[in-house]
Amino acid sequence: MVFNTELTRQLGIKVPVIQGGMQWVGYAELASAVSNAGGLGILTALTQPTPEDLRKEIRKCRTMTKNPFGVNITLLPTMNAPPYGEYAQVCIDEGIKVVETAGNSPGPVIKLLKSAGIIILHKCTTIRHAQSAVKLGVDFLSIDGFECAGHVGESDITNFILLSRARQSLKVPFIASGGFADGQGMAAALALGAEGINMGTRFMCTAEAPIHQNIKKTIVDASEHDTELVLRRWKNTSRLYKNKVVEEAVKIEKSSQSGKFEEVAPYVSGKRGREVFINGDKDFGVWTAGQVIGLIYDIPTCEQLMRRIENEAIEAIERSRKYYQPQSKL
Ligand code: NAD
Repeated sequence: MVFNTELTRQLGIKVPVIQGGMQWVGYAELASAVSNAGGLGILTALTQPTPEDLRKEIRKCRTMTKNPFGVNITLLPTMNAPPYGEYAQVCIDEGIKVVETAGNSPGPVIKLLKSAGIIILHKCTTIRHAQSAVKLGVDFLSIDGFECAGHVGESDITNFILLSRARQSLKVPFIASGGFADGQGMAAALALGAEGINMGTRFMCTAEAPIHQNIKKTIVDASEHDTELVLRRWKNTSRLYKNKVVEEAVKIEKSSQSGKFEEVAPYVSGKRGREVFINGDKDFGVWTAGQVIGLIYDIPTCEQLMRRIENEAIEAIERSRKYYQPQSKL
């Protein structure tokens, strides 16, 4: 075993890399591939229309990997409120060992999951939220910098500051999320005090990600300038791939007199975004992407990606040693 961190030890994984929850992407195909490659794959609960569908997806994933995998439960504003407690209960019933939680007022869900001994990895974009989560008894924090895809929070603090603030002030181990696509990034995260990294956009662009090939090619062609922030007006800021629909949504957000979310809702609808991954039309609806999209230049298998990340991280750590020559004892 090369990497030995609090994350690898507690989760029973080989590489300190987690595939973050991604709406319409976190199916068994991807989660099992990541887990088979030594990381922790994650099924996205709300991607399954009902808790019973999540149960089926967990069972399917079990047939595809013998390694541990987790489930993401995100509690953010939605157009149709999901039965979060029922999704959590399915995780308990099906013997899931790790749940990634994210979003607002996660207390009741975390309490239910903790009562069953599930390891909670809670995602947050500020130290204040991280400290509240610590009080709820979470086991790990996933510190999500402003570079990240999807819900970036309202504080706009990038990971260079956020991770060091986490190291200085949190008494619970944390991983770094947002802005990671390679082993150099992982080495930097470990240097800043993290026990591992979380990657989303990078895993969307792997052979096993169950999304249309055109979208993977779009990711390869994109630069770090190709994301856009929407929904700030409603304090639900989301970083998305900058396409025609997002530009329309931003225009309405800025110009709307009423300030009603309903005006922008048809543009940012998740149902429409889901179609993008099925039909391969990058402009059909909105889809999340992090600034890390500018670092992605190929479509490897999860196995190839994870071995490369390990090698790059080891090389980066070795290289940094060259800059330090211990004084020889006289
Ligand atoms: P949806 O179609 O219900 O909503 C689309 C977008 O509008 C989402 O960003 C949502 O947060 C936002 N939204 C909905 N109602 C809102 C309101 N009243 N005010 C402000 N913003 C509002 O969402 P979906 O695509 O079906 O996704 C379901 C849930 O999962 C959403 O909360 C979404 O944000 C969240 N999500 C989860 C992940 C994940 O990794 N688990 C990734 C992306 C989004």
